Parts: sequence; C-alpha cells; structure tokens
Amino acid sequence: MPRVVTFHYTLRDPAGRVLDTSAGADPITYLEGAGQIIEGLDEQLRVATAGEKSQVVVPAAKAYGLPDPGQVQKVRRELLPIAGELKVGDQFQAGPDRHAPVVTVRAIEGDDVLLDGNHPLAGVDLTFDVEIVGAREATESELTHGHAHGDCGCGG
Ligand SMILES: [Zn+2]
Repeated sequence: MPRVVTFHYTLRDPAGRVLDTSAGADPITYLEGAGQIIEGLDEQLRVATAGEKSQVVVPAAKAYGLPDPGQVQKVRRELLPIAGELKVGDQFQAGPDRHAPVVTVRAIEGDDVLLDGNHPLAGVDLTFDVEIVGAREATESELTHGHAHGDCGCGG
C-alpha cells in the first residue's frame, strides 16, 4: 500500500552548495508513487520510517533528467526580452507567461546568444539530507485523488 510521507529536507549539489531546504518552513507531505516529489527520492524513501534521518543521493537521470542538446539554441541578442547587460550564467523566462521555461545563457558570441532551455538542475546529481517526520498508510480517498490530504484544499 502506498503511504503518505511527511519529511524535512536540505538539498545540495555535488559541490555541497545548498540549493533548497524546508528548514524553517513546513515539511513536505506527499503520496508515494504519485509524482509529487522527484522520482529517485520517492523510490529511495519507500523503506524510511518516522523519525529516521538519512542522506539520499539521487542521480541526475532520476532527478531532473539529463541535459538535452536539442534544448540549446543560438538566438539573436536583439530578439531577447532582456534590456541591459547580459552575462553568461544569467537565467530568465523565455516568454511572458509565468510558466514559460527558464533558460540559461551559456555563451555570448557577438550578436548571438547561446541559450540552454534545459532545467537548471538537469545533469546534476542531487543529495538530500532527509528527516522523516511522519509516515502512514494512504486513505482510499487519497489513492483515488492521487495526492495526500491535509491542506491540499480539495475538500477530500
Ligand atoms: Zn483530494
């Protein structure tokens, strides 16, 4: 039976830099196997029990995937919605929609800019320091809805 798991985490890249953490905020609650957290973390926490602290390393392929060379393209500088200076490493949204993908500037060659549309964490192995706050069996209605209940606001 899938469980509903609640946990705190600190996410680091291979250089040990903190990318994200739930410390100081509410823990994360998810339904196992429902795609609510990254696949590799979900898989490796299947045996974790409440109170457990562990370090979970998720290879890039099971996190944000491997970079797709097809997502890298050369664009004329003047076509970009960015006024002012542009530097290698800059990130911005590729369109006016707030769900537009984030692109990263990989290179600037004269009037051309090499933009990378891959997720910024594509190709990055992730390390999670995890503390399991709680784990319980999912209810029938959670399984039907495909998410954990609590403050999801669905009324279930
Ligand atoms: Zn629901």
